Amino acid sequence: MKLTVLKLSLLALSIAICSCSKSEEDLPDTTINEEAVSITSVVQSKYTSAVTISIRGSANTSRITLKSNGLPDHKTPYWGVGHALYEAFPSGHKANVNTEMIAQNYSMTIPTNPKEASSKNATSLGEIGMALNGVAIFNDKERANIPLDAMTLTTFDNSGAHPAPQKNYHYHTTGKYTSADDAKLIGFLRDGFPIYGRKDTTGGYPTLDSYGGHFGPTQDFPNGIYHYHASNVNYLNTGYYILKSGSYYGNKGTFTN
Ligand SMILES: [Zn+2]
Ligand SMILES: [Zn+2]
Repeated sequence: MKLTVLKLSLLALSIAICSCSKSEEDLPDTTINEEAVSITSVVQSKYTSAVTISIRGSANTSRITLKSNGLPDHKTPYWGVGHALYEAFPSGHKANVNTEMIAQNYSMTIPTNPKEASSKNATSLGEIGMALNGVAIFNDKERANIPLDAMTLTTFDNSGAHPAPQKNYHYHTTGKYTSADDAKLIGFLRDGFPIYGRKDTTGGYPTLDSYGGHFGPTQDFPNGIYHYHASNVNYLNTGYYILKSGSYYGNKGTFTN
């Protein structure tokens, strides 16, 4: 019995070594592939089961498609009174005109090997990324593409979120159920780069470029990767911190609904 187990282990080990060395020979640039594998594995391990993941293509041209219904897996008043995940609004807050949220048909496609864009694309109104639970990430703008004002922020729940006119619930800021003054991975933006809370893994607040990111190690990418952070500016002194404003660092992928 023991011998069989040992034989099987040796066989598995030799297969692992063979497949490993073979795939490395096949690839023109192993450095690129290591990063690609890393993003793919982080996406696969960190997104919740509410998100369906599929991968197409190979090596540095492959893309990941993430599908979700966009509904949160946590408490919010937008579930409605009586729902198991209902909780009250923060003090002084109330629902916006889009009082309810409904399931969406989200599909975001990102590169597994994102690169800096030679010409930067501005983020626009609507979905600019997907959080780990499948909820959409929006930028700092609201209807008519104007910056969020203090009145609009009173329609936010504890997650800095509310539904849009299509009843699509979305995060604008950090919050209780995503990241609150920490270094947690929040999700990925449409250009394929990850977005983290306000802090770096070192515990400090990083200095960010004009896209809201920088290159460096994170808990998921210890060898370093370009990544975004939530803004460390207390937005309009409301206690909310905008997730992302301005342009993407990479080429934006697609996000359909
Ligand atoms: Zn909004
Ligand atoms: Zn960082």
